[in-house]
Amino acid sequence: MSILYCLNPECSHPQNPTHYSYCQGCGGNLSQTSQSYSFHSRYLIVGVLGEGAFGRTYQAEDLNFNRKPCVIKKFIAQMQGAALEKSQELFQREAEKLDELKHEQIPPVYDYFSEGNSFYLVQEFIEGETLLQYPVVGLRHETQHNQLF
Ligand SMILES: [Zn+2]
Repeated sequence: MSILYCLNPECSHPQNPTHYSYCQGCGGNLSQTSQSYSFHSRYLIVGVLGEGAFGRTYQAEDLNFNRKPCVIKKFIAQMQGAALEKSQELFQREAEKLDELKHEQIPPVYDYFSEGNSFYLVQEFIEGETLLQYPVVGLRHETQHNQLF
């Protein structure tokens, strides 16, 4: 069964049956052009690649970088105060470690940031590999992919 994802990062139930016009989670219009959300005022969300226990993985375009396609992994920390600070620190270390790895199976990390209790890891979008791993159901037409390199 295919799913139509709501791109609203705050949406509680982003998975919708494909025949829905309005999101059952947030009530937003699911049409291809009406949803415009970005992270950090820089990464325009173009699709949802997957969803896990700790967050979602998005396909996005880097507006500061010629709309370069990228993958954003969002992790939501379920803690506050000192524990949240600690996890921010751990996240930062993880991101740096991941960047040092430069493993061929892991798309290079080129940015990371945190906002509130959410952490974001920005990786290069590698077409093919990522598509094999997750079913891609974007709400926009696939256009800028020829600008990958
Ligand atoms: Zn929604």
